[in-house]
Amino acid sequence: SIVVTGATGQLGRHVLEALLERGVPAEEIVAAGRSVGKLSDFAERGVQVKPMDYADADSVAATLKGAERVLLISGSEVGQRVQQHRTVIEAAKAEGVELLAYTSIANADTTAMKLADEHKATEALLRESGVPFVLLRNGWYLENYTEQLPGTLAQGALAGSAGEGKVSGAARVDYAHAAAAVLVADAQAGKVYELGGDDAFSMADLAAEISAATGKAIKYNDLPAEEYVGVLTGVGVPEAFAEILADSDLGIARGDLLVSTGDLRRLIGRPTTSLGQAVSSAAASA
Ligand code: NDP
Repeated sequence: SIVVTGATGQLGRHVLEALLERGVPAEEIVAAGRSVGKLSDFAERGVQVKPMDYADADSVAATLKGAERVLLISGSEVGQRVQQHRTVIEAAKAEGVELLAYTSIANADTTAMKLADEHKATEALLRESGVPFVLLRNGWYLENYTEQLPGTLAQGALAGSAGEGKVSGAARVDYAHAAAAVLVADAQAGKVYELGGDDAFSMADLAAEISAATGKAIKYNDLPAEEYVGVLTGVGVPEAFAEILADSDLGIARGDLLVSTGDLRRLIGRPTTSLGQAVSSAAASA
């Protein structure tokens, strides 16, 4: 079977859909997460839905029983993820899986973004584990921006600390299709994919796309990181996360989220979702 962790999340659901589209029989797919009630639609289609809490090693081991391939979608609880991922890697090793794919971060070898620390540590655990693994180093989601569209429009401006830096964003669905392609392909162990959108864009480019799609003049205000943290906490973002976001923007300014390998486009066999497409469809539903 192919086990997908984090299947209850947004990326995970797209991966399940992509595996089914590729013709993987539903009963060979195990969809795992904590809130398994969210997966009732996939259960109805024959996908095996199983509970998995990274904090409960027994649940991880039970759900990995019989797994041949595993997609470890990185967790969302920043600060706890290395231990959580270790639990999955150890269970995969005990099970003798033939391949574990891990969703890491773009340019994990060189990036200085704080958000990358847990990904680097997880990659190191994988190297030490002896488990055959493949790295899906995902770049930024376009949704990181498009999901903020209502707030951006309400404020009449886009704020950030990314300067003129560019980011190779792509849609979650693109990264999901790449993961599915790797999960069904031969000879993936040892490969490292640097995944990002075909066309990089700056925050000024993003503001221009939003203006074009909504007819409202939205400007990008570049702020010192401390000020940007203040803006974020002012709209309710928890301080620790606001600091991570501002630090990530400094990473974008350095080019840490630029990807020019073309790996994503090649894996999905089509151009990646463009910023313009993503912004127009978000604007249409905003
Ligand atoms: P979501 O927040 O939608 O999904 C996170 C998934 O992780 C959920 O399925 C959740 O399960 C699961 N999870 C979290 N904690 C645990 C736990 N303790 N035990 C078991 N499962 C757990 O994120 P996305 O799908 O959008 O993104 C996937 C991952 O990509 C994120 O978790 C994060 O690591 C990373 N990411 C990447 C971004 C990028 O721009 N590249 C942006 C944001 C995140 P459940 O809901 O059932 O608890």
